[in-house]
Amino acid sequence: MTNKFTAVDLLGKHGFGVENLPYGSVYIEENTVPRVVVRLGDHAIDLGFLESTIGGLSSKAKDTVTDQPTIDALLAAGRPIWSELRNWLTHIFTNPSHTAAVKAAATSVSDVNMAMPFTVGDYVDFYASENHATNIGRILRPNEEPLKPNWKHLPVSYHGRASTVFISGTPVRRPKGIRPEKDANPSFGPSRKLDIEAEIGFIVGGSAPQGEVSLAEAAENHLFGAVLFNDWSARDIQAFEFVPLGPNLSKSFASTISAWVVPWEALDAARVMPPSRDKALLPYLDDSDADPYGLDISVEIHIDDQHVSTAPYSTMYWTAPQMLAHMTVNGAAIRPGDFFGSGTISGSEPNQRGSLMEMTLGGKVPLIASTGENFSYLRDGQQVTLRGSAPGPGESIISFGECTATVLPAT
Ligand code: MN
Repeated sequence: MTNKFTAVDLLGKHGFGVENLPYGSVYIEENTVPRVVVRLGDHAIDLGFLESTIGGLSSKAKDTVTDQPTIDALLAAGRPIWSELRNWLTHIFTNPSHTAAVKAAATSVSDVNMAMPFTVGDYVDFYASENHATNIGRILRPNEEPLKPNWKHLPVSYHGRASTVFISGTPVRRPKGIRPEKDANPSFGPSRKLDIEAEIGFIVGGSAPQGEVSLAEAAENHLFGAVLFNDWSARDIQAFEFVPLGPNLSKSFASTISAWVVPWEALDAARVMPPSRDKALLPYLDDSDADPYGLDISVEIHIDDQHVSTAPYSTMYWTAPQMLAHMTVNGAAIRPGDFFGSGTISGSEPNQRGSLMEMTLGGKVPLIASTGENFSYLRDGQQVTLRGSAPGPGESIISFGECTATVLPAT
């Protein structure tokens, strides 16, 4: 029986149409090994199963999806294979003769549990929003210039902890640590200032054992995809520990990624010019003649059932290729699965801030919880959800889905 409808006709949905095709890893049945999948509409399509029924991939591309629990093998394979797989999927999903095979490989996303889509290698977190860096500088260092002299010359960053990057849905336990006390010695205990940082995370593929990845090479060869990223932060622990090095323990207890990895190519229609550069950039960061790599991604922040802010990624001063070029310019290697966060996204308006510290002006102007109580930082039991989207080709939307977690009390 031939089908006159394509898989996109039957399964595609606003946000998760053929323009997006994010990758993930799912447990299709309980207690089995996860399977690498691609999302179309509200369905997870098993890539290994699809390949086994349709064929048509090169042997190298086939190896990245056959019996693979995650996208790790795909990340290692490099851009030509990423493009081959995406083109193959686009063809299959838009050709009626393959609809039956797609339906046979599809499971509703509501019937699966998501797994970490990749093994996180080295993890670096940046500080690429001028609005955020300025807001935080004013709160933490009120008597100084908010931006340090280096800020417009390099994308400021710190090395984070890969082993505590968790998938959306994993609860986050309130961390304990050393907290500053007014006119007294510091104390040890649960953080009183647990905060969020709404960011975009970038997943790196291919390898560069000698580092020195140029802006063009970063975009062309190494940026595989993007996820929503919540870089949970304990502001009291951070304030005490981070002078002159760090942050470390105020961040390393947990970071959360969304489950679906949006391919770099799916963001082509979202590319915009980054803000104009006030200082001339050194050659390895100079993007004045490069393709623009600002990204028009909008990130909504919800706490419990309240929408508290919408952070515009298009305002970020430093681009993803600049961040990757910077972290390798000294010869530092990259490996498949390396990951970096953009830094908190904050726009210029009060309702565009990406952290509670900024929304509440350092705790001075509390928010009102759905229970009616005031809060400046997160309370136990609160749930934080990021939702992201970007323009796709034509009228389409590229959805990032959700990045969500609930705060558990300290042990
Ligand atoms: Mn951060």
